[in-house]
Parts: sequence; structure tokens; C-alpha cells
Amino acid sequence: MSAAPHFKKLALIGFGLIGGSIARGARAHGLVGEIVTTARSETTRARVKELGIVDAVVETNAEAVRDADLVILCIPVGACGPVAQEIVADLKVGAIVSDVGSVKSAVVKDMAPHLPPGVHFVPAHPVAGTEHSGPDSGFAELFINRWCILTPPEGTDSGAVERLRAFWAALGAKVEIMTPDHHDLVLAITSHLPHLIAYTIVGTADELAQVTESEVMKFSAGGFRDFTRIAASDPTMWRDVFLNNKDAVLEMLGTFNEDLAKLTRAIRRGDGEALFEHFARTRAIRRGIVEIGQDSAAPDFGRPHEQIGKRPK
Ligand code: NAP
Repeated sequence: MSAAPHFKKLALIGFGLIGGSIARGARAHGLVGEIVTTARSETTRARVKELGIVDAVVETNAEAVRDADLVILCIPVGACGPVAQEIVADLKVGAIVSDVGSVKSAVVKDMAPHLPPGVHFVPAHPVAGTEHSGPDSGFAELFINRWCILTPPEGTDSGAVERLRAFWAALGAKVEIMTPDHHDLVLAITSHLPHLIAYTIVGTADELAQVTESEVMKFSAGGFRDFTRIAASDPTMWRDVFLNNKDAVLEMLGTFNEDLAKLTRAIRRGDGEALFEHFARTRAIRRGIVEIGQDSAAPDFGRPHEQIGKRPK
């Protein structure tokens, strides 16, 4: 692993779960000289000031990025294009501009055309989170042992990519580089589709007149509880994910529906052999995930603080 980088000034645009966790982690590991941040609302800016984690809280995005050598947009995917336009005139030559959006092709398409030559654009997605949001929800350990995927456009300065890789590694993340399209396809099946299923099933249970609310709560340990946690994820963030990763999600949803139809048929026909074979295969997949060290007591998007593993050696 390369040595931890040091950035003189880090600008964070947006200070919620992800921005707040980056600020806390960068502070804890001494990765930056100064952190300047801004958020859309006065309420969030005032709360960030109170928290005292950053050096300065400013009113505008343009003001935040002035003289920064690392700029990270920690805002919903759909807001990245307009914010890139706002900051373009104030970016320092040589600055690294990044983001943390859960979708990458749309962010690259929306941001890249605005960024001037001499600024290094290295999009990123830390695959880590909880169902909480806002300035109080972040914590320095969020990224430990989690993946951070970088999707630099072709021709990006390799030194800039390496510096950002080292920054995320210093926050505890394991870093991988891939194309934006490939990222979106992989995340469609591993994250976006599971969220869609959770949003659907919680809505369905809510509409079931014959299952009273108290019964849903009482028996929720039978699998439903994990879905409710996922379905509590931020509505704005997830609206933007589905609007901006439409093609990959629809492709995965098509395959999912076909597989669901096969299981439905097996249940209808009483085909125990087909059901057993399917469940045995998925059990083996789960064991494989555990073996490669990607399991934890709770999913990525709902890990209680006390269950987070220690920093990798
Ligand atoms: P969050 O806690 O809700 O924080 C979002 C921040 O963005 C807030 O500071 C908010 O400002 C600001 N914001 C919202 N809408 C904006 C707009 N239209 N223009 C400018 N700023 C705006 O969200 P988060 O969970 O940190 O997510 C931020 C990004 O990280 C998203 O792109 C998401 O896809 C990505 N991500 C999230 C997770 C996760 O599990 N949560 C995991 C990996 C990546 P105000 O508070 O003033 O409204």
C-alpha cells in the first residue's frame, strides 16, 4: 500500500453521512491540512459549524473549492452536474475533483464536460453506508474494510488516480478501479436491485389489510426486519440512483423477474427438487461471500458502529 497522501486543503461539498464520514476519517488520520465544507441548507451549515469537525463552513460551493487541492462532491447523484458548473471557474489548476455517487456513468457524463484541462477528475464510489443521513450520521470508521471503486475516465493523470487511491486506502478502504459502465452493472445487481426489492416488499406488507401492523412488527425477525432497514434509506439518494442507472437496473430486473417466475412455477407445481436445488446453490454463494471476507453481522448499509471490524493491516 502506498504512503498516506497529504492534501493541504480538502473541500467537501455536502456534509451528510458520506461527507461527514470523510471529514471525520481524514481528520483522524491526519490526511489533510484544512477542511472547508459547505452544504445546501443553512440548517446543515449551522449544524456542521456546531460539530466543530471542519476548519471552515462557507456559504457557496464556489467559495469552498477555492485553493483546494482535493474537492469531493458528497451530494445526490442528480445534483453533481449543476454543482460542477457552479465550481468550474474557481477550481485550482492541478486540483483533484471527485465525488462519492452510487452511480458512475451518469455522474461522469454530467460532470466531465464542465471540468477544465489541468483539473484531474477521478470519480469514486465508497461502497459503504448506513440507512442514516445528515451531518450527525457520519463516523470515521465507516469505510474500514469496505470497497471504494474509482472510475477515472480514459487518459486521467495516473498520479492523481494514485493520490486518490492512497487517500481512500488511508481511510481504511480497499480500492478497485473499473470503468463507469462496469461499475453501474455490478452495483445494479449487488446494491440497487436489493434496495428496490426492499422498497417493494415493505410497501407490499404495509398494504396487506389482513396482516395487522402489530403482527408485522411482532414477527419482523423472520426476515422482514432487514428489509425495513434497507427501505429506510434516504429517498432522495435512491430516487437519483434509479433515475441515473436506469438501463443497468432494468436489465437486472428483467433477469430477476425471469428467475422469480421459475421459483413461482416450482412452488405452484410443488417441485421440491427445483426449490431445494436453488436454495442449495444460493447457500453456497453466501458461504463463498463469507470466505472472501465480505460478510459482516449486518449488511453494508446497516452496520451498527460496534460491529465494524478493525482497520486492515
Ligand atoms: P446525505 O446524508 O443525505 O447528505 C447529502 C448532502 O448533500 C447534504 O449535505 C445535503 O445538503 C446535500 N444536498 C442534497 N441535495 C443537494 C442539491 N440538490 N444540491 C447540493 N447539495 C445537496 O447523503 P449521503 O448518504 O451522504 O449521500 C451522498 C452521496 O453519497 C450520494 O450521491 C449517494 O449516492 C452516495 N453514497 C451514499 C451511500 C449511503 O449509504 N448513504 C453510500 C455510498 C455512496 P442539506 O443537508 O443542506 O440538504
